[in-house]
Amino acid sequence: MPAGTEVRVDSGAMGAVSNPPEGKNALLRGLPSIEQLLRRPSLEPRLANLPHARAVAALRLAVERVRSRLLAGDPRPFEDADVEVALASLATPNLRPVINATGVVLHTNLGRAPLAPEAVERVVAVARGYSNLEYDLDEGERGSRYAPLIGHLRTLTGAEDAIVVNNCAGAVLLVLAALASGRECVVSRGELVEIGGGFRIPDVMRQSGAKLVEVGTTNRTRRADYANALTPDTGLIVKVHRSNFALVGFTEEASLAELTELGRSRNVPVFQDLGSGALVPLSGPGLTPEPTVGQAIRDGADVVAFSGDKLLGGPQAGVIVGRADLLQRIKSHPLTRALRVDKMTVAALEATLELYRDGRPDAVPTQSLLTQQPALLQARAERLAALLAARGVVGRVVSVDGQVGGGAMPLARLPSYACSLTVEAPKVFLERLREAEVPVIGRIADDEVVLDVRCLSEEDLGQVAQAVAAARSGNQP
Ligand SMILES: *Cc1c(COP(=O)(O)O)cnc(C)c1O
Repeated sequence: MPAGTEVRVDSGAMGAVSNPPEGKNALLRGLPSIEQLLRRPSLEPRLANLPHARAVAALRLAVERVRSRLLAGDPRPFEDADVEVALASLATPNLRPVINATGVVLHTNLGRAPLAPEAVERVVAVARGYSNLEYDLDEGERGSRYAPLIGHLRTLTGAEDAIVVNNCAGAVLLVLAALASGRECVVSRGELVEIGGGFRIPDVMRQSGAKLVEVGTTNRTRRADYANALTPDTGLIVKVHRSNFALVGFTEEASLAELTELGRSRNVPVFQDLGSGALVPLSGPGLTPEPTVGQAIRDGADVVAFSGDKLLGGPQAGVIVGRADLLQRIKSHPLTRALRVDKMTVAALEATLELYRDGRPDAVPTQSLLTQQPALLQARAERLAALLAARGVVGRVVSVDGQVGGGAMPLARLPSYACSLTVEAPKVFLERLREAEVPVIGRIADDEVVLDVRCLSEEDLGQVAQAVAAARSGNQP
C-alpha cells in the first residue's frame, strides 16, 4: 500500500467496505497461523472437545484449502466456517462406498467385484483377531497360507495344484519368472494386449526376465507359426486371453488344444493367461461365451492364471493352477513371497469358492448382477422413476446397453434399463451427484444424465433419488 494512503474501515460493517486492491501475496501473508487459530476464542467451543491432533489436522487442512483458493484467484479470506468444512471432511474417509449407476458390473475404478455377504463375514471374523493363517492346527506347527484354497481350486478347475498371489498381473509375472526367466517365451502378436491403466502384457512379461518371441501377425497366428519359433531355448508357450478387445473379420488363431498338443510333442509347457477366469459357464441376456478355467485345464494347459475379482467375483487376487511339478517351481520362486496375499484375501476367496463348491454361483454378486433379466431391470428403473417423481424430478425410463467391465467380454452388450435425466449441464450434474453423502457415479449419453439400475440395490434407489433431488435443487445433500 503506498505511503500516505488512508484506508478507513467502518468497524461496524467490515464486509460492506470494498477491500483495497491488495495483491494475492498480501492475502496469503494474512493467513492465520495454526497457533493463532488454536487461541482464537470464536473457534474454542468447536475445538475444545476434540483431541489436540485432530484439531490441528483440521486447522491445517482449512488453511491449506484457503491458500489454494487464494492462489486460484478467489479472494475470500479465512473464515471460521472453513474450519467447519475441514472438520467434516476429516470425518469422511478417503476410501469409502459409492453407488455404481454406470451399469458396468466389474468397474475397475469402482473396486471391481462386490463381495458376497458370506465372504465379507469371513473377512471380518479373520481380520478381527488371530487366525490359523500359517498354522497347521492338526500338527500344531507352521502351515501354508495357501492350504485353505488349494483343495477348492483343485476341485473347481480339475488342476493338480494351485497358488494365489496378489493379482493376475502378478501371477503372469511370477509364472514367467519361475518357468521362463532367461529363456524364450513364444506368444502371438495378436495377443499382446494392454489391460488398462497403461499396463501392457508384453511389458509385464519382459520384467520377468523372459525373452519375448512374437509370432504371427496381428490378425492371424497359426500353429505352424508357434512350431517354427520353438528352439532348445524355449521355456514356455504363452496364450493370452484378449480380454478387452476382439478380433473380427479375416482372423485365425491356434486353439489352446492345438498349442498344448504342440507343446507336448516338443516338451514345452503351455501357459494360458485367462484374465477374467470364469469358474462356471456364464449365460444370460447379452453375455458372450467365455472359456472356463476347467476347460483350459481339460484342453491341456500346463499352467493357467486368472483374476480373483473379475468373473469369479471374489477379492483382488491372481490365481495360478496347473501341473504339480510346475506349481512346485512357482511356489519356490522368491517372487512368490513378494506377491503373497494377506489373510483377508484368503478369507474372502475361500468363502467365495465355497459358494461355487456348493453349487450356488448365484450367491456370488458378480454372477447375479450379470445375469439379471431385463424385465426385472425395467421394473427397478420404473421404481427409481417413481421415487424421482415423488421429489418432482422427471426421469425417463430408457433401455440401455451395459457392459461386463474389467476387460471381460468386450463385445457383450447387456440389455439394461436406466433413468435418463434432461439437465442443463450434465457434467456439473454428475459432479453434484458425486458430492452426495454416498457418492453416486453416473454417466452421460446424448447430453443426458443416465443412471443405469443394473448394479443398484433397493436401498440404493432411495439414496440415488435423494442425491438427484439435491443435485437438481443445487443444494449439497
Ligand atoms: C485383467 C487381466 C490381467 C490382469 O489381472 P489383474 O487381476 O487386474 O492384475 C491379466 N491378463 C489378462 C488377460 C487380463 O484380462
